[in-house]
Amino acid sequence: MADKRSDPVVVIGMGRFGTSLALELARHGTEVLAIDHRPKVVQSLAGQITQIAVADATDMEVLRQLGVPDFYRAVVAIGGDLEASILTASLLVELEIDDIWAKAVSKQHGRILSRIGAHHVVLPEHDMGERVAHLVSGRMLDYMQVDANFALAKTRPPKDYVGAPLGESNLRRKHGITVVAVKSPDEEFTYATAETELTYNDVIIVSGRTEDVERFAEL
Ligand code: ADP
Repeated sequence: MADKRSDPVVVIGMGRFGTSLALELARHGTEVLAIDHRPKVVQSLAGQITQIAVADATDMEVLRQLGVPDFYRAVVAIGGDLEASILTASLLVELEIDDIWAKAVSKQHGRILSRIGAHHVVLPEHDMGERVAHLVSGRMLDYMQVDANFALAKTRPPKDYVGAPLGESNLRRKHGITVVAVKSPDEEFTYATAETELTYNDVIIVSGRTEDVERFAEL
């Protein structure tokens, strides 16, 4: 089957999330059809997104007229209006869109979207809140929860691990984490190897189980 990643995407709801998403897709050369029922919003984006329509996405006839059934991928970026979000997602399921993404404002909302058939549900505010909590509370410079219990963190090396090759540090056995990459001041990130020696001013990317990564960043 052909690679579908660069196929056109329909984005429904041009709030802050939908707008950022649509503009970023367009910037990467993906064709976007954006839909919002507020004419003012559509007018303000008309110069930046080539295909943008004022339409109510909860109306099946409207979706058909806009050619939505021909799309492989769609994103429901309506958050505040739960009824519109759920109704729109269910119409996309009914149209048998292959890859439906939906934004949820709460876990319950996300559960409903999954149950009606959305293939991917994202909770941007919830996820960002968790991420920022990690940055605010510790030494981490960046944090990403990759899976339910697996994380990547950008942090500084604890002093006990400065000056010796990573191969001799036993970091995996002692702390359950792997140093994936290292960045020295004024240099770019490079993959860490058994020979890599960390210095105080390095920034490192570590991966591992969430609790191990959290504990390591507190050392
Ligand atoms: P954000 O928090 O990302 O700003 P919002 O939920 O506030 O998201 O915005 C959602 C957008 O979806 C708004 O611009 C709104 O006009 C649009 N929208 C809501 N309901 C519909 C609908 N039935 N059809 C099309 N667009 C809709």
